[in-house]
Amino acid sequence: MKLVNKETGLRISIEQSLIDMLVLYGRNQYPKEFGGVLVGYYSDDKRTVNIIDSILPIDFKSTKTSFERGVEGLKEALEEYYRQDPSLVYIGEWHTHPDNNPIPSVTDISAINTIINSKHTFITNPVLLIIGYSKSSVTFGFYAWFENKLFRYEPS
Ligand SMILES: [Zn+2]
Repeated sequence: MKLVNKETGLRISIEQSLIDMLVLYGRNQYPKEFGGVLVGYYSDDKRTVNIIDSILPIDFKSTKTSFERGVEGLKEALEEYYRQDPSLVYIGEWHTHPDNNPIPSVTDISAINTIINSKHTFITNPVLLIIGYSKSSVTFGFYAWFENKLFRYEPS
C-alpha cells in the first residue's frame, strides 16, 4: 500500500502482508487495544519511508480504549535490525482501536510527544498507524507528525 499527503511531501509505503499481520495481531487481543513499533528505511532522497516490519512489545498495558507499550528489549531489537542492515531504523508506532474509528485520541497525540522526546528513539517525523476494526470491517489511519501536528495520509 502506498500513501501520500501533499502537505508533508513524505510518502509512506508498506507491504500488504505486513498490514495483514498487524490486523491479525490486533484481533488476537480483542477487545483490548494492541500495537507495536514500526521498522523500516527511508529512500535515498528521503521522500519515501518504507515500512517493512514491526517489533511487538514485551511489556505493555492495554484496555479497550488505551494502549501503552513499554520499552523492554526495544533498544536491543532495533540494534538487531541495524546489524542486519544499517538503513533499518525506528519509523513510528501502530496500535488498534477495537470497535472504533482509526482517529487519534488525545492520549495518542500526547504519546507522540513522549516518543519524540524519548532517549530510546531519535526521530522528528514519526509515523502513526491506527487500525480501527470491528467483527466485519477494518479501516486504516496513517499519520505522520510534522512540526507539532499530525497529518493524515490517503492511499495513492
Ligand atoms: Zn489510539
